[in-house]
Amino acid sequence: METRPFDYAALLERVAADVAPLVGSGTPAEYIPALASVDPGQFGMALADLDGNVYGAGDWRVPFSAQSVTKVFALALALAEGGDSLWERVGREPSGNPFNSLVQLEYENGIPRNPFINAGALVVTDRLQTLTGDASSELLDFLRQESGNPGIGFDAEVAASEHEHGDRNAAVAHFMASYGNIDNPVPALLDHYFWQCSIEMSCADLALAGGFLARHGLRADGSRLLTRSEAKQINAVMLTCGTYDAAGEFAYRVGLPGKSGVGGGIVAVVPGRCTLAVWSPGLDAQGNSVAGVAALDRFTTLTGLSIF
Ligand code: GLN
Repeated sequence: METRPFDYAALLERVAADVAPLVGSGTPAEYIPALASVDPGQFGMALADLDGNVYGAGDWRVPFSAQSVTKVFALALALAEGGDSLWERVGREPSGNPFNSLVQLEYENGIPRNPFINAGALVVTDRLQTLTGDASSELLDFLRQESGNPGIGFDAEVAASEHEHGDRNAAVAHFMASYGNIDNPVPALLDHYFWQCSIEMSCADLALAGGFLARHGLRADGSRLLTRSEAKQINAVMLTCGTYDAAGEFAYRVGLPGKSGVGGGIVAVVPGRCTLAVWSPGLDAQGNSVAGVAALDRFTTLTGLSIF
């Protein structure tokens, strides 16, 4: 096994060159018009080590819509603030269904399969809202602090676009509320959820913000956000559920915990070593970035840095 330190900058350049032919394949998310207009020819990749040094290639400093990647940060904050009782309201099993699916909820009494499908993320944001009184701002502050970038913000156009085309998320939230699994008024919850999804950040921001997952729960300033065990649990749920109905394929190809979003971003973790972020807007049928998954696949293949 490699013991020399890797030359991360050179490695990322190589990965970017290797996946260049794939950039532009797939389709940007079409159901949110503000995302459909993004230039699909972009690709970025960043790596943050445990000390907060960050390396990158391509469009790694260009902000993009984080979308469902934010779900992992919301989960971390909800667990940090409110503890384990969250798991009475949301499960930890892969769903095998698309991210916005409703079908399992009726059979499972309004308890979503996991915190990374939309239903589960709505429960997590609901919990964070109850705990903090302002879930989306709390999340934004956290991302700014961990990345060291006070310029990270919401994208009002994306949030409005999601609202306008948010019938499915509204249906999911109301359905769970009918089972008593949502505490806040649904319209307020949806507001926070859409603002959360609209957060814009770059690969550099994302790799740094996800550092606590590689540092076994320690924040950028060295304080503890999560216990070692909680950090392990989140990484495990990312591995099994972070890329929806493609989680098996992602584990097979990449071998790392990862969380994707329909903006084309993915955050992935090498526990005890580094956090990776990739972005390219073209998505596959499951809503994961085509070039992004390929880049992570290439990275773990070249370095042997997977959890297996
Ligand atoms: N905002 C999107 C939605 O709720 C997020 C989905 C995603 O990134 N997979 O539909």
